[in-house]
Amino acid sequence: MGLFGRKTVHVDADILVIGGGMAGCGATYESRYWGRDLKIVCVEKANIERSGAVAQGLYAINCYMGMQWNENQPEDHVRYARNDLMGLVREDLGYDIARHVDGTVHKFEEWGLPIMRDPNTGRYQREGKWQIMIHGESYKPIVAEAARKAATQVYNRIMVTHLLMDTTKPNRIAGAVGFNVRTGDFHVFRAKAVIVSAGGASHIFKPRAVGEGMGRTWYAPWSSASAYGLPIQVGAKMTQMENRIVLTRFKDGYGPVGAYFLHLKTYTQNGYGEEYEKRWYEDTKALVGDYVDRHPVPTCLRNHALLKEVAAGRGPIRMVTKEAFQDPHKEVVGWENFLGMTIGQAVVWASQNIDPKHINPELTTSEPYVMGSHATCSGAWASGPEDYAPDEYQWGYNRMMTVEGLFGAGDTIGGTAHKFSSGSFTEGRIAAKAAVKYVKDMKNGQPQVSEQEVRDLRTTVYQPLENFRIGRNEITAGTVSPSYLLPIHGLQRLEKIMDEYVGGISTMYMTNGVLLQRGLELLGMLKEDMNSMGAEDLHQLQRVWELHHRLIASESVTRHTLFREETRWPGYYYRGDHMKLDDENWHCFTLSRYDRDTGEWAMEKAPVYHIVD
Ligand SMILES: Cc1cc2nc3c(=O)[nH]c(=O)nc-3n(C[C@H](O)[C@H](O)[C@H](O)COP(=O)(O)OP(=O)(O)OC[C@H]3O[C@@H](n4cnc5c(N)ncnc54)[C@H](O)[C@@H]3O)c2cc1C
Repeated sequence: MGLFGRKTVHVDADILVIGGGMAGCGATYESRYWGRDLKIVCVEKANIERSGAVAQGLYAINCYMGMQWNENQPEDHVRYARNDLMGLVREDLGYDIARHVDGTVHKFEEWGLPIMRDPNTGRYQREGKWQIMIHGESYKPIVAEAARKAATQVYNRIMVTHLLMDTTKPNRIAGAVGFNVRTGDFHVFRAKAVIVSAGGASHIFKPRAVGEGMGRTWYAPWSSASAYGLPIQVGAKMTQMENRIVLTRFKDGYGPVGAYFLHLKTYTQNGYGEEYEKRWYEDTKALVGDYVDRHPVPTCLRNHALLKEVAAGRGPIRMVTKEAFQDPHKEVVGWENFLGMTIGQAVVWASQNIDPKHINPELTTSEPYVMGSHATCSGAWASGPEDYAPDEYQWGYNRMMTVEGLFGAGDTIGGTAHKFSSGSFTEGRIAAKAAVKYVKDMKNGQPQVSEQEVRDLRTTVYQPLENFRIGRNEITAGTVSPSYLLPIHGLQRLEKIMDEYVGGISTMYMTNGVLLQRGLELLGMLKEDMNSMGAEDLHQLQRVWELHHRLIASESVTRHTLFREETRWPGYYYRGDHMKLDDENWHCFTLSRYDRDTGEWAMEKAPVYHIVD
């Protein structure tokens, strides 16, 4: 179908939720609670039934206080997240989630999610201090049902490519555009408030598995940085984008290790059967000082010990499962843990003749990912809760970005690690409550969209199909064309740049100012070539726009990494020219703002306020 055969569908909404994952479902559900008479639209590039990082299911909810049994208080969770992130979290935002997260989990149970119970106490079965165990294969469909019932309409299969800005008021949001990945129709959503909840970013760094196996990453391959790419392009400030995450996971299948460490009480050894973490204590202390003495040891520092041990020639690192798996109950839990959330790991072990009862499986560290809800906190800089945030963190409604009417939740929002699935849904609820208030306060001041801008975007969005249609006539065979670049080629080029210059696996997560500068130059050249992207079909067109979002998020990561002149999180990445943690100069947040008119980036520091003692 040619460019002009496609329909343009106009949708008006009061609240537009972009991305129907955990946070998006929470936002949609809560928007209806506070906005009974509002038009609430959720738009999702897959199908909310099985979309996002929780698509396959989970075996544990990793953020639950247990306040009803006095197990933990919100302040405890703030201390925990602060410690794990080497001192730097938005305590106001973290506290806000922690004080509401239990209510969210109780709703999940009410909606039918089976949560395991401790037979001795009757309480939820704990996996660790913060985690509770679930039979979570159907976690996402259960959560999606609540969103579906709450929404005026859910639009599945629509990839949002750009946000729209108001023509009547500077720096105010007005909606978004995207295209249906099945029919190709162009969609224009006009909205008074927009909540971005489009998940984090995989595949910006080269993965360990390449070629046919490149889809086998820890983080879902469809998490394509839209949560950052969309707000960055309209000038929203971002924070802590350098704080990428590297996971220690079972080798080749990326199976989770939490249940193994916490519930099965397994432990790690080097290739010679020796304990190795203590060996690196002095080395780590020289880099980060007292942070190494904190309990629990921050995740990045445990990675650091593993990396040092492997670099010293004593790999591979193994998880000692042979002992735990002699207990039939633990053996069942060990396998079920994968069957509920990462079936691929069980398949990998079967294919490699690994029975964890008899063989201790290998662990390795993943390529870096960018996300705001796991053990790192990259994302948008957001206004905090009125009753708790310091003045400097408040410029409007809770979870509103620095663009008026643009809200975020889950992986989108920066500064708040350790939200996980329950915390992301909770943050969606928090953002929605504030967005409804924003819409109601707006009264008649409805944002306006430029028709010309919409027409231009329509041309831009489909241009790769045109590039391909014309350019393919220049070649008779193969996929390499002199006049267009396919999305897979662009993706691999991006991953190579990020890997080699910004601290990926091939440099053992090492970078420095010189490498980062060169990385920026190469990213700039890739950016120039993005106008020449070709797409054979709608599937490839989606890949092109995912690449656009990945690229601008990558540039942000690189600029932040260059700006922070210290190594704050050894084990996640190293600045070879500033190997030590430097609290005197860098106990702060890094902020960036992209100016879409000039293409310039502005960097600044923002203070970290410790609200909880
Ligand atoms: C491998 C892995 C394991 C995890 N394990 C656990 C665990 O055991 N326990 C736990 O509690 N938490 C776990 N988490 C964390 C949890 O999954 C996340 O915190 C949570 O899913 C984040 O919610 P979100 O809504 O921000 O993102 P997601 O849930 O990923 O949702 C993002 C949504 O946006 C959609 N989208 C993206 N781009 C666009 C676009 N351009 N247009 C339209 N739609 C778009 C996606 O399709 C997706 O539906 C895990 C995460 C990962 C990655």
